[in-house]
Amino acid sequence: MSDRLEVTTPAALPDEGGAEQALRPSRLDEFVGQSQVTTSLQISIDAARKRGEALDHVLFFGPPGLGKTTLAMLMAREMGVQCRTTSGPVLEKPGDLVGLLTGLGPGDILFIDEIHRLRPTLEEFLYPAMEDFRVDVRLSDGPHGQTLPMAIERFTLVGATTRFGLLTPPMRARFGLVERLHFYPVEDLAAIVTRSAAVLGVTMDVAGASEIARRARGTPRVANRLLRRVRDYAEVRADGEITASVAAEALARLNVDEFGLDDMDSRILAAIIEKFDGGPVGLATIAASVGEDTATVEEVYEPYLLQQGFLERTPRGRVATAHAYRRLGLTPPARPGDPQTSLLDG
Ligand code: ADP
Repeated sequence: MSDRLEVTTPAALPDEGGAEQALRPSRLDEFVGQSQVTTSLQISIDAARKRGEALDHVLFFGPPGLGKTTLAMLMAREMGVQCRTTSGPVLEKPGDLVGLLTGLGPGDILFIDEIHRLRPTLEEFLYPAMEDFRVDVRLSDGPHGQTLPMAIERFTLVGATTRFGLLTPPMRARFGLVERLHFYPVEDLAAIVTRSAAVLGVTMDVAGASEIARRARGTPRVANRLLRRVRDYAEVRADGEITASVAAEALARLNVDEFGLDDMDSRILAAIIEKFDGGPVGLATIAASVGEDTATVEEVYEPYLLQQGFLERTPRGRVATAHAYRRLGLTPPARPGDPQTSLLDG
């Protein structure tokens, strides 16, 4: 992937872990926005603490970079417990889970990212752990192999997924709290980058913050990444101070447009319009034509294009909207139902 393609991708980049860690809010009240989610978490946390019990299992779903991992860590902090993190694709066999689960202290949080990618055998292994706080350790192999039930501490599983629809119904049913995270409005993103700038010791005015926020794809991870890039530019070109014009120049150089779209978004829209007459066209076909895998297009790029009204989902596939044509400098075709065509029809 070229440097340009990565700037506004909502997924974490390989070398970004440390930088993200430094900018993670350390208390729930520093977590900006998503007030519905944080309010219901706070109520559950207060109730669990009052009863002296572990929190219910919680599932977060929504696009990458919106704060699912951060919330799991903040919950642990509020509860005064440890948080162990892992992810669906990393876990290969029940043994991998046994170690994690038996190592948990009372009330600890086990965070499983991309929980929809957990293998079926592991998912089944988790059910008794989530329900009865018990793991069935296999003593011998084969279909009739003996198992030994082993008690574990009452813990809280926090699952995160970008694909709620791929989670099996029995898995969904085992979460007491299911919370959806939404893209952030510009004001929230501006508050997030303002806080991050303070943590990084960068001078930034209000207009600079909103310039970055507007182009961050509704995603805190992208906002913080843009801030770091703009800071580098400001250090070299503008005495380190981020104003609206410094931010705009820096972002233009990174090829991030006024909607926060990058090259891949543009290629997706262009493919639908130029190769498939605006659609409807299936997701797999779109993905193949831009050389990206289907899951990435669906989980990473499409949600924001849908939310911003560039794309529509129909039963027959994805359709580019008039907004998408205009974004590429093209005239949208008249479609049945448009006012102009209805007049002619009449
Ligand atoms: P996810 O797990 O949903 O992919 P993360 O929790 O890893 O997202 O968040 C990505 C980055 O964005 C982290 O550095 C985090 O500090 C920051 N972030 C996410 N949500 C918020 C928020 N509401 N307020 C402040 N920072 C946030």
